[in-house]
Amino acid sequence: MTAPRTPKIPYGGDHNPEQWPEPVWDDDHRLFTRARIDTLTVGVFSWSLTQPAPGTYDFTILDRILDRAAAENRQVCLATGTAALPPWLAKRHPDVNRTDFEGRRHRYGQRHNFCPSSPAYREYATAMASRLAERYAGHPALLAWHINNEYGGACYCDLCAEAFREWLQNRYGTLDALNDAWWTTFWSHRYTDWVEIEPPNALTEHWRGPDHTAFQGITLDYFRFTTDALLGCFLAEKEVIRAHDPDTPVTTNFMGMFRPLDYHRWAPHLDFASWDSYPPLDAPPTWPALAHDLMRGLKDGAPFWLMEQTPSTTACRDVNPLRRPGELRLATFQAIAHGADAALYFQMRASRGACEKYHGAVIGHAGRDDTRVFREVAELGRELEALGDATLGARTPARTALLFDWDSWWALEISDGPSRLVKYQEVVHAYYRAAREAGADVDVVPVTVDPTGYDVVLAPVLHMIKGDLRERLEAVAARGGTVLTTFLSGRVDEHDRAFLADAPGPLAPLMGVRVDEWDARPPQVVQPVQLGELTCEARLVFEIVLPRGAEPVGTYGADFYAGTPAVTRHAYGQGEGWYVATDLDQPGVAWVVRRILARHDLLGPYADHPAVETATRVAPDGTRLLFLLNHAPEPARLTAHTTATDLLTGKRVEDGEPLTLDPLGTAVLRIQ
Ligand SMILES: [Zn+2]
Repeated sequence: MTAPRTPKIPYGGDHNPEQWPEPVWDDDHRLFTRARIDTLTVGVFSWSLTQPAPGTYDFTILDRILDRAAAENRQVCLATGTAALPPWLAKRHPDVNRTDFEGRRHRYGQRHNFCPSSPAYREYATAMASRLAERYAGHPALLAWHINNEYGGACYCDLCAEAFREWLQNRYGTLDALNDAWWTTFWSHRYTDWVEIEPPNALTEHWRGPDHTAFQGITLDYFRFTTDALLGCFLAEKEVIRAHDPDTPVTTNFMGMFRPLDYHRWAPHLDFASWDSYPPLDAPPTWPALAHDLMRGLKDGAPFWLMEQTPSTTACRDVNPLRRPGELRLATFQAIAHGADAALYFQMRASRGACEKYHGAVIGHAGRDDTRVFREVAELGRELEALGDATLGARTPARTALLFDWDSWWALEISDGPSRLVKYQEVVHAYYRAAREAGADVDVVPVTVDPTGYDVVLAPVLHMIKGDLRERLEAVAARGGTVLTTFLSGRVDEHDRAFLADAPGPLAPLMGVRVDEWDARPPQVVQPVQLGELTCEARLVFEIVLPRGAEPVGTYGADFYAGTPAVTRHAYGQGEGWYVATDLDQPGVAWVVRRILARHDLLGPYADHPAVETATRVAPDGTRLLFLLNHAPEPARLTAHTTATDLLTGKRVEDGEPLTLDPLGTAVLRIQ
């Protein structure tokens, strides 16, 4: 099953009319019509309303919300509402409350606060999902099911400890296998009974927080267990929905690059992927783009939904800047360029009280339709209506893949040594950014990918190597492709045990290098690296590389390893393996990645315009769409590389003629 079929991009977002008297609903719908808002996500936080007491269900208000939406010709993404507990549930069944990393049993409060192993939570949540599905399957407004909300967080209660032990028995079968995997002869940890195993937290294996663990194997398995435990909650709700409604697509909203959950383990169970985009302050545009591509990669390149973004500002940060005029439109078209088939906001109307009252909304506290934000939302609604179905179902024809692996992320960042300062997302983003700014479309894919269709595979900081990945990567190079990996790759197996071999372990034959030693230095220590004419800077980790078939491409410029290789290239079969032995700055990474892309003729036509992002989608009928996104606050003056029609303006551009993008402007070129 895929995302719902719609005649245009669903446009709208989270709507909480249950917070308001019904006359306000009239205002809402009047303004929605003005802004071309056709899709509402409802019921996300309505559990205490729909089930005010253990045996009492009351769908009066939800009925009215859905019936009103249908009467107004709007479609509904209906949430099961199980992410925020009603107070009576926590009081009646204290085991639904989480126990935190410090071992404190929580009492009622906040949201995302349920224990995934609590039988009471499972029972009440699935009962609610079942009732909703029974009641609203077939409702004319129903477009999609939205289970829970932004799953995340871990619990360390006794129920979770017991569930963890069961999970371990399924994974390892015997304690001998577990002791071997976790290397428990270290520090006298050999387990002789499953009940001796404790969840890894501040009371057991950890000190200085979640990343500092004495036993990486235990902590890694707890990350995996937590992923599966929350997935179990999702699956229980999905199963009861399916019993009543076999046809409506089901999703849950992810959070992009979210470390706590391995979304690749969830992906097969979603009918379509969706996610909430709140990029960090001052992130370059390639940061949300990487998250979009990661979400698109969850379902083998199928389009996803942008389930939430703010129309103007967040509230949860210490400082919450406004999106400048034009930035919302640009971010929305960027999502569509990367595969979004829906553009939804959090939220439709600003909450009057509690912690999100200052979170941006399409309609503010004064209920006006003459604010800048409302005008921008309405203008975008008009443009998306005019765009119709032109982009729906379109796929990205990428020939470059970037491997993204939660296991490597976890293993790298919970490792003692060589450096706590190497951050997985930052290194991965540097390589992604280099490829995107050179104009290459990139699929961000799991390490289980079949890489046959790719010319270039980028595998930065691939700390953990699992299964037959080595063979699949070698096959890419053997048939003429290029594989790149970096420092701190190929170090550990799936249990975080070091390979008993020279680094980069299983990747060494493909890379043609032997890493003999590695030096880690504080961030102020800069090591110059010479790459052709470019002198760039490297930091944090410096691996000392002995070529074993590879040729040096760049060399260190200082310290006792001055003159030794920092970047190498290895001819392998018809292709190449590139090894980057240190954390190069962005110009250095760009130099390397552009050389690799050029070898495969993958540099884009506007690669010399750093502020202009390009992205290609191919519609189901074969129409090729090229998105041009100008991230600069001044016009971008390009020369068209092809003849095309801009779907947003209807204007035709001729090959070789000037093509100007407005400040923060977008063009969607239908290639002739
Ligand atoms: Zn628990």
